[in-house]
Amino acid sequence: MTEDLADLYQELILDHSKSPRNFRAIPQCQRVAQGDNPICGDNYTVYVVLDGGVIRDMAFQGSGCAISKASASLMTEALKGKSIASAEALFGRVREMITQGHGDGSLEKLSALAGVHQFPARVKCAILPWHAAMAAMHGKEECVTTESEE
Ligand code: ZN
Repeated sequence: MTEDLADLYQELILDHSKSPRNFRAIPQCQRVAQGDNPICGDNYTVYVVLDGGVIRDMAFQGSGCAISKASASLMTEALKGKSIASAEALFGRVREMITQGHGDGSLEKLSALAGVHQFPARVKCAILPWHAAMAAMHGKEECVTTESEE
């Protein structure tokens, strides 16, 4: 990886952790799942709206470290509009990239997460929101439809 690219990836992670995209609840969503990593203190709720096997909307709420928040933010951007099957395939590629550390740029913005490989303690943080999203897509847990006061 060139130094310029490493800088760009670091900026992307910082940007997404400081101003996460799709950082909200979806009151009328169909599916929801929690993900937490007690070691780091990451705790997120991922909301998914499915329509005929396609992810119409995805959002998240919660708190945690910069890596987990940036990963969740990048994930919601990447998965919106994808079918469940292609979301799963993408998760497989992202997980491989993060655990093995070879980002070749083919995952576009998600390639920014490849650098997490250098910090083994953070691998769990980066993958956590993805696990929650997969659990939400396959889970049967319905969202609470009452308005939350938070
Ligand atoms: Zn973390």
